[in-house]
Amino acid sequence: MTTRFGLLSLAREALRGHRGWAPQWRSPERPQPAYDVVIVGGGGHGLATAYYLAKEHRHVGRIAVLEKGWIGGGNTGRNTTIIRSNYLFPESAALYDHAVRLWDGLSRELDYNVMFSPRGVMMLAHSVHDEQVFRRHVHANRLDGVDNEWLTPAQAKAFCPPLDIACARYPVLGAALQRRGGVARHDAVAWGYARAASALGVDIIQECEVTGIARDPRGGAVTGLETTKGTVRCPRIGVVAAGSTSLLMAMAGLRMPLESFPLQALVSEPVKPVFPCVVMSNTVHAYISQSDKGELVIGAGTDGYNSYSQAGGVQVLSHALEAVCELFPTFRRMRMLRSWGGIVDTTPDRSPIIGTTPVPGLFVNCGWGTGGFKATPGSGHVFAATIATGAPHPIAAPFALERFTTGRLIDEAAAAAVAH
Ligand SMILES: Cc1cc2nc3c(=O)[nH]c(=O)nc-3n(C[C@H](O)[C@H](O)[C@H](O)COP(=O)(O)OP(=O)(O)OC[C@H]3O[C@@H](n4cnc5c(N)ncnc54)[C@H](O)[C@@H]3O)c2cc1C
Repeated sequence: MTTRFGLLSLAREALRGHRGWAPQWRSPERPQPAYDVVIVGGGGHGLATAYYLAKEHRHVGRIAVLEKGWIGGGNTGRNTTIIRSNYLFPESAALYDHAVRLWDGLSRELDYNVMFSPRGVMMLAHSVHDEQVFRRHVHANRLDGVDNEWLTPAQAKAFCPPLDIACARYPVLGAALQRRGGVARHDAVAWGYARAASALGVDIIQECEVTGIARDPRGGAVTGLETTKGTVRCPRIGVVAAGSTSLLMAMAGLRMPLESFPLQALVSEPVKPVFPCVVMSNTVHAYISQSDKGELVIGAGTDGYNSYSQAGGVQVLSHALEAVCELFPTFRRMRMLRSWGGIVDTTPDRSPIIGTTPVPGLFVNCGWGTGGFKATPGSGHVFAATIATGAPHPIAAPFALERFTTGRLIDEAAAAAVAH
């Protein structure tokens, strides 16, 4: 029985030193011998998929999430949590804005505080090219009904006072601002979805690595999975494994148009509130916000080589820090507390892949690269519908795997040169 959070339960626990909270989700040691749907990957996207499957598509039957480590231990718990939907193409704006609308009521929906904070995301223009690109985004977003506005350098400074708009190396020529954008607490997103999915009967099995995908020798449809905790029979599998997706899909004989790269972030020592919004600079590839604990959260670019390691080159971090120090001179004396890396899965057009595959019963949700946290609720919602019906959800349809053979790319990489 899941505890409902409310004034009374919080007050009761506060008075007895928070010793009475029960575990927030069931954590079975082993999977059952058979399920109707198995989601591989217990990150935010996989857990959200399981939750929406159980909530909106009960008829699919028994659902499990298999996670090789601990839930949220992949990119979900390693990202800088920027949320926005001001992408260039209508297909992307529809997908990411679907997510932003779900973020808005998510804490209430899950009865779990995911700390969504729409404090505004400002993207800096440092060159005439940047300015033209961002102004084009502003116009395109307005046509799509997505908020995005152009700020002059003075308006950008007023929105984010620590910003040095006259910075010699990276002068600020203006900025695109999405006021509905912001940040959320990443762990809480994984935990909130896990808790709500578990309450609806989903089995979440941690430390259970999928090592093989079994297929029917006649029709080729999936029949089950090999795991480090035994064999699981299952007619429908959704792979949501971010940087490890290619490895999993290869187990079913599929080669994916994905490359995996390390992407790093770091946090400073905590300080009082000094940074009111989120700032991104695509030109220098640094992005920054302040967590509720007070740490400056800083993201860097991807390393230049493919890797499955959750660590990257020091020079990439130092490049991002140099840029941050030039844009925000007041942070020069801050000390950095820790850094880490994740493995991001990027597609040639920097848009995700969501949908069916040539293998009957096998579905995939991947390719979110450096920018999938923001999409977590929307991604899970449309992927659940896709798995439940066997046909792509209308918002997911343009993101099908086939676009790499038909050529109908959604080229956000060419549009923005970055897709955080
Ligand atoms: C440093 C960094 C900064 C980022 N900043 C942002 C940002 O500001 N905004 C934004 O929107 N996005 C950002 N991202 C990207 C974002 O984190 C990801 O796109 C998103 O979290 C992907 O979620 P997921 O659930 O698909 O993947 P994950 O959270 O990685 O979950 C996949 C899970 O699959 C599991 N798995 C893998 N192989 C197996 C197996 N064989 N068997 C079982 N389980 C398996 C993994 O252990 C993992 O837990 C950033 C990423 C990084 C690394």
